[in-house]
Amino acid sequence: MSLSSYQQKLAEIAVAIGVNLQPGQKLVINAPAECMEFARAVAKAAFEHGAGDVSVKYSDEQVARMRYDHASTETLTKVPAWHIDRLKTMVDDGDAVISIHAEDPDIMAGVDAEKVKAAAVAFSKAAMPFHDAIINNRIRWCVIAVPTVGWAKKVFPNLSDADAVSALWDAIIKASRVDNNNPVACWHAHNDTFNAKSDFLNSHQFKAFHYKSANGTDLKVGMPDNYIFTGGSEAAEDGVVFFPNIPTEEVFSAPHKDKVNGTLVSSHPLVYNGQLIDGFSFTFKDGHVTDFHADIGEDALKSLVASTEGSDQLGEIALVPYHSPISEMNILFYNTLFDENASCHFALGSAYPTCIKGGTEMDENALKSAGLNVSATHVDFMVGTEDLSITGIMADGTEIPVFQNGDWSI
Ligand code: ZN
Ligand code: ZN
Repeated sequence: MSLSSYQQKLAEIAVAIGVNLQPGQKLVINAPAECMEFARAVAKAAFEHGAGDVSVKYSDEQVARMRYDHASTETLTKVPAWHIDRLKTMVDDGDAVISIHAEDPDIMAGVDAEKVKAAAVAFSKAAMPFHDAIINNRIRWCVIAVPTVGWAKKVFPNLSDADAVSALWDAIIKASRVDNNNPVACWHAHNDTFNAKSDFLNSHQFKAFHYKSANGTDLKVGMPDNYIFTGGSEAAEDGVVFFPNIPTEEVFSAPHKDKVNGTLVSSHPLVYNGQLIDGFSFTFKDGHVTDFHADIGEDALKSLVASTEGSDQLGEIALVPYHSPISEMNILFYNTLFDENASCHFALGSAYPTCIKGGTEMDENALKSAGLNVSATHVDFMVGTEDLSITGIMADGTEIPVFQNGDWSI
C-alpha cells in the first residue's frame, strides 16, 4: 500500500513546519517499526528539504512488552550509557528530532504497574539532560502520530484491521490540518490565532484563573509573576520557529505550583502507564493534591499522584476551545497528542521553563522559587466541558471572562 497524497503532506508538514528543518541540518526520526513506510516518506521529504543527513531509530512495542514480562526490575531500571550518549549527541550536534507516536494503549495491560513506573522514572531521570534540552527548546523537535493496527483497533474496535487503520488515518489527517491543498498556509493562519490569544493573556498578567463547571469543578489557579502563555509555534534557542506538536490546539502556560486551591473534576478518561483512569477528581490545597477519587483505576491514579517529587502538583495550564476539529470528532484517541488537544487540561508534574520570563536561564531552585513545578514526570489530564467558564482575575481584582460555555470569550 502506498501513501495517499494527504499522508505525504503530513510527512512534508512535519519536516517543513514541525521541526522547520534548515539546509544541512541532520534529522533524527523516532518511529515504531510498523510505521516504516511513513518514516521513509519523512526521510524523503527531509532530503528534498536539504537535510544534511537523516537517521531513523525504530522501536518495537512487542519487544518492549517482552522485556517487561521477562527482564527484572533491576535490569529495566538500569539505563545503558549508549542510550544516553545517543540523546546527548543529538543535542550537542543540534539535530532536529521528529518522533512518531503510535502506541497500542493496551500493550502493557497486565504488566506490574510498579515495574512500568520504576522503569519510566529511571529513564526520565537518566535522560534529564535531554529532557531539559527539549523543554528549553535547545533543539527543534516535533511529535506527530500515524496509525498502527493495535492503536487503530483500540480506537475503532468494531471495524476490521484495515478499516480501523484507514478511519484513524482520516481522523489524524483532519486533526493535523493537512486535509487541504495548502497545509503550510493553513498552519500559518492557525498560528495567528494562537498568537492573538497568547498576546491577550500575557499582556493582562492575571494573578489567577477561576475554573467553574457544573460537573463540580471549582478551582482557583494562581499564576506566577511574568508568566508566558504560548501556543502553536515556538522559537528554538537559535531563534528558528518550529511546531513541537502536530496537531496542536492548546494555548498553555505554567501555573504557580503552590497557589492552586479547590476541586478539579476530569472530563475525559486518562490512560496512565497503560491503565485506564476514569471519572476522577482532585482536591487541591496550597498547590498539593490532598484528596483524590476515581470511579475506575483509583490505584493507577494513586501511583500517578505519588510517583515522584512534584507529581502531586500542577505544572501546566492549557486552554483548548470545546469546539475544535479534534474535539468535534468526538473520538477518544487513547493518545495524549490528540486527547489533550480535545479539551482544556492541566498536567501533574514538570512545568515548561519557557512559560516564565527568563525561565530557560533559571536553575531548578530558581524555577521552584518562581513557582514553577520541577519533576521527572508530566502527565496531562482533561477538564474541559461544554459549560466550562474560566475567569481571569487581575491584580486589582478586575475579573475578565476568558472562557464561557467551553469556548474562548476573548
Ligand atoms: Zn498541554
Ligand atoms: Zn502537557
